[in-house]
Amino acid sequence: MIENQSTGEIAWAASTHVVIVGAGPIGLEMAVALRRRGIEFQIFDAGSLGQTMTWWAPQTRWFSSNERISIAGIPLQTIDQTKATREQYLNYLRAIAIQYDIRPRSNEPVVNVTRDAEGLTVFSQGRDGPQQTRCRAVVLAIGGTDFPNRLNIPGEELPHVDGYFREPHRYFGRRVLIIGGRNSAVEAALRLHHVGAEVVISYRGQELPCESIKYWLLPEIRALCESGRIESYWHTQPVRISAQTVTLESLEDARQFEVAAEEVLALIGYQQDKRLFRSIGIELQGEPLRPLFDPETMQTNIPGIYVAGTAVGGTQSSRYQIFLENCHSHIDRILTHLIGQRPTKSVPKFRQQAIAYPES
Ligand code: NAP
Repeated sequence: MIENQSTGEIAWAASTHVVIVGAGPIGLEMAVALRRRGIEFQIFDAGSLGQTMTWWAPQTRWFSSNERISIAGIPLQTIDQTKATREQYLNYLRAIAIQYDIRPRSNEPVVNVTRDAEGLTVFSQGRDGPQQTRCRAVVLAIGGTDFPNRLNIPGEELPHVDGYFREPHRYFGRRVLIIGGRNSAVEAALRLHHVGAEVVISYRGQELPCESIKYWLLPEIRALCESGRIESYWHTQPVRISAQTVTLESLEDARQFEVAAEEVLALIGYQQDKRLFRSIGIELQGEPLRPLFDPETMQTNIPGIYVAGTAVGGTQSSRYQIFLENCHSHIDRILTHLIGQRPTKSVPKFRQQAIAYPES
């Protein structure tokens, strides 16, 4: 039973067999696998289907090839055979959800899961107040990029400072300082340069970390920086942001100087939201605070609670190793443990072939 704090009404907890937390690609892939086997489930998301992609800039292309980000063995085709854009991929996810009658409980964050002798209770925050769902298993497919990293410097809270690159057009004709030097920063710098912004980049390394930047982005960013068309300040760190300037500090001699900037994008990586892991009591390990799980079954230290997708990597920083493309096998492992036998249909043939390609 659950009491709605505001109305005092008592409601019985709904029940299902499996609860999936997170309606991103892996959560959806899990849902399709359960649907195909006739196993009842509910899927919750704090936002909407494919929430992480909703803040990507329009027409951002996936770095991964379509074979690797397709889910549940359903081909992802694009009209021009190029890598899918954010819009094409969200369209693909919606079509799969419709086809398999998967209706995520959107904007309903799961805040805790408890265990008793009969099973698990999932606590969520619905529009009408707190909800409870009883189930036998929970799959946490909650991703790993929930909040942008913070600089922790004065001025970071000003309205012209953003940790997300959302919309190139709004920067037309503006002088934009980008902080960071890997793929998000470089991709944004190139797109903003082409949209007609005056781009300035500050990176704490002595030079761009070439080995970490996608090979199709590198020649252009180098050429633009070397020619001065993108103003670059290597080996610098921002120390203060004001309405029209950013104070940078040289990491060579600690000299501070001001750079004019009407807009600031701090594209310095992302943090995983650990609150649900912590409230459930899932052990977190190492510097990335990765959830503890058995790699054979994906079960965490709490029986009946599994983790899937990029959530397994915790907060990945500097060297990302867990991507959607290397997480599809989690679904079969969880299913095998749930139903007590290996699913007959495993990795689709085209994906087995794709594994031979280099990462991209
Ligand atoms: P990232 O790889 O973690 O890079 C963060 C950058 O910010 C690094 O250059 C880092 O410096 C710098 N940084 C971190 N903390 C800082 C601080 N406190 N002050 C100043 N600089 C700081 O993050 P990302 O570039 O957002 O990439 C995240 C993942 O998304 C990667 O896997 C990337 O390939 C992927 N991505 C995909 C797409 C796409 O599919 N279209 C687009 C963009 C990114 P150091 O280099 O010194 O560590």
